[in-house]
Amino acid sequence: MTETLSSRERERYQRHLALAEIGAPGQARLKAARVLIVGAGGLGSPAALYLAAAGCGTLGLVDRDQVELSNLQRQVLFDTGGIAQPKAEAGRARLAALNPEIRIRAHAMELNAANVRALLADYDLVIDGSDRLSTRYLVNDACVLYGKPLVSAAIHRFEGQIMTYVPGEGPCYRCLFPQARDGVVANCAEAGVLGVLPGVLGTLQATEAIKLITGVGEPLVGRLLTYDALSLRFQEFHASRRRDCAVCGDSPTITEPKDLPAMSQSGDAAAVRQLSPQDLESLLRGPSPPSIIDVREVYEFEAGHLPGSVNIPLGQLPQRLPELAGRDAAVFVCRSGGRSLSACQMALAAKVSSPLNLQGGLTAWARQIDPSLRVA
Ligand SMILES: [Zn+2]
Repeated sequence: MTETLSSRERERYQRHLALAEIGAPGQARLKAARVLIVGAGGLGSPAALYLAAAGCGTLGLVDRDQVELSNLQRQVLFDTGGIAQPKAEAGRARLAALNPEIRIRAHAMELNAANVRALLADYDLVIDGSDRLSTRYLVNDACVLYGKPLVSAAIHRFEGQIMTYVPGEGPCYRCLFPQARDGVVANCAEAGVLGVLPGVLGTLQATEAIKLITGVGEPLVGRLLTYDALSLRFQEFHASRRRDCAVCGDSPTITEPKDLPAMSQSGDAAAVRQLSPQDLESLLRGPSPPSIIDVREVYEFEAGHLPGSVNIPLGQLPQRLPELAGRDAAVFVCRSGGRSLSACQMALAAKVSSPLNLQGGLTAWARQIDPSLRVA
């Protein structure tokens, strides 16, 4: 489909047209593109605003929630006057005001295994900014099964991560994080989140979408990019497609989208146990101290670490999990508790140990227990 630009559009997108790499052909591709944004929250807000401003011709917003006052600390798609309105509708109104040249479709519904196929059929690319693990796996599996590129991101407290999946070209989300139960990763409401954090990650998601649509640059395929706002560091972990991946592997066991069973409210024995620095200190003084697995990068480990801890950078953990088999308990630690929570999730899924997470990470340990510990 060839899209032509009106004189008003040429004026609106002048700064794109001035870029030789995008120009009129790239802008026409943006106009023809249909992008579905799952979750109109902290990540979906900047992604939707920038894609609308960029002239992405069709944008879909899926969100079943209503705007709440506590959303406004980070969900910049909404304003105070929109409180109690459905997010999908309030978002559509805001985006239409920003750019009346594009089509915006509001899907005020919960995405599930029964409706994901029909919804994805109308779109070419998916941005996942949902805050539920079950939705993240559902969206990943559906994108693999129906051959849609996916830009997936997640945030936790002060840290975020993003990766891009392109069908047939690299690993999917499940290759990196083989399996999970819903509720293992605490959501923003429980853990808190720095308001500006999803602005960085959601903007990166829009960047990836624009690159994929226009064919410019090198997408984040086969790379997990992590961002730590406290140290203001980005890190990259390379990953390959797993031949044993349940959905994109050689013999997939997931051949249609499935809803993950939600975790029971009463507290599941399989859930990650959180340890405060004080809890960890008393465990270490006890009769059978646990193993400590430090999932930071080698340079961070070398700068300072807990005595006796073993360094397995998070990017290597999927391959090295078997090393942990047979240990009674393993405490995962990182800088501020986000990467170690992902590590716990992987260990739980692989059933190799009873993972414990040092809440607040080594920065909390240094603050509360041992100020002499150097945390890079
Ligand atoms: Zn996979």
